[in-house]
Amino acid sequence: MILNKTIIHFRKKIAGLAGLNETEIQLLLTPNHIHKAELEVNGKTYPAFRVQHNNARGPYKGGIRFHPQVNEDEVKALAFWMSLKTAVADLPLGGSKGGVTVNPKELPIEELEELSRSYIRAFYQHLGSAQDIPAPDVYTTPQIMSWMLDEYEKLTGKKDPGMITGKPLENGGSLVRDIATALGGVYVLEEAIQKLSLSGKRVAIQGFGNAGMNIAKLLFDQGYKILAVSDSKGGVYNEKGLDPYQAENIKKAGGLLGCYCLGSVCSIKDVPSEGFCRGITNEELLELPVDILIPSALSNQITVENAANIKAKIILELANGPTTPEADQILHTNNILVLPDILANAGGVTVSCFEWQQNLANEKWDEQTIKQKLKDKLVTAFNQIWTEYDQNEHDFRTNTYILAIKKILAAEKLKGRL
Ligand code: GLU
Repeated sequence: MILNKTIIHFRKKIAGLAGLNETEIQLLLTPNHIHKAELEVNGKTYPAFRVQHNNARGPYKGGIRFHPQVNEDEVKALAFWMSLKTAVADLPLGGSKGGVTVNPKELPIEELEELSRSYIRAFYQHLGSAQDIPAPDVYTTPQIMSWMLDEYEKLTGKKDPGMITGKPLENGGSLVRDIATALGGVYVLEEAIQKLSLSGKRVAIQGFGNAGMNIAKLLFDQGYKILAVSDSKGGVYNEKGLDPYQAENIKKAGGLLGCYCLGSVCSIKDVPSEGFCRGITNEELLELPVDILIPSALSNQITVENAANIKAKIILELANGPTTPEADQILHTNNILVLPDILANAGGVTVSCFEWQQNLANEKWDEQTIKQKLKDKLVTAFNQIWTEYDQNEHDFRTNTYILAIKKILAAEKLKGRL
């Protein structure tokens, strides 16, 4: 479904506005390679994919997702977005994506390790620091990256830590990578807030994984009011504001966020839990009266069904593809600024790029250097897009797409491929 929507939206809207001819459209919509395998672990098989979309600007780059809903079309759409994302952030990389159709939460750790290693056994010939560089995505972790690197190095007989990013520090990972998606989002958000002169600081965050939890903490530390957070099972809302550190503790202890406010564990002292603090659904969260809405979970959350009810002034897309194209149009008409995924969550791949560069150069950069470089990349990208956005009537996402497409096509043309 995502792929169809992406293609239709691209053909109907973006291609015309970007002035693309049919050859250019075909090039952008067709991945260079689609690799598939069936991974066998303990008598069960799992479909696995690696889609390499475009490498005109550099080696393919993109995460690997372990999720029950993974399918070939979804991985194709995600790979396409990775090419756009690396171009937006002006990284010397292309775009790819991987996935395995599995619920990793149901696997014992030994099977998870075996699945990760067998993914590499299936695709290692297509991977490498000068070829295609995976990273974490939904439900994949630094530990999984370590197993994958180990398997790759065993198979090739060579050390190549830059073949995968998002590794633990001990295995060649980079400082800041763990919070990079969220931190990049904060940098983009702050630019947008300045441009709109937005004074309200009420935030709702859908999703409490790496991106959602970290942005909740970063914004809370900077004085924003986190009114609601949620995970796949439900959420919690407190009109006086929540403490995401406490929500994290509750989640770590195996609790449900929706029960967070009940009884004595309500986060804000001196605030009675009833009336102020209550459990909410993921759907309710999106429509709360907040200034900033941050979808950080899965795709297709903001649709024609709920777009008209959204009250936030800014939407920061930390998830990939949380807004459907039809919903996007409604939000634009309602004057809501949508900071699109390919910019808003590009912090992850940007620090992945820094990790890869450190590995290739045998260097270790300090935290301040990495944060500053990340900020420079994303603030520059934001302002390039904003300048265009200010001068034409297209929505911010369309301007972001056009910037990325121009860069990819320029690289293709110079290489004589177009
Ligand atoms: N999975 C992340 C994304 O969708 C990070 C990719 C990477 O670091 O290569 O952007």
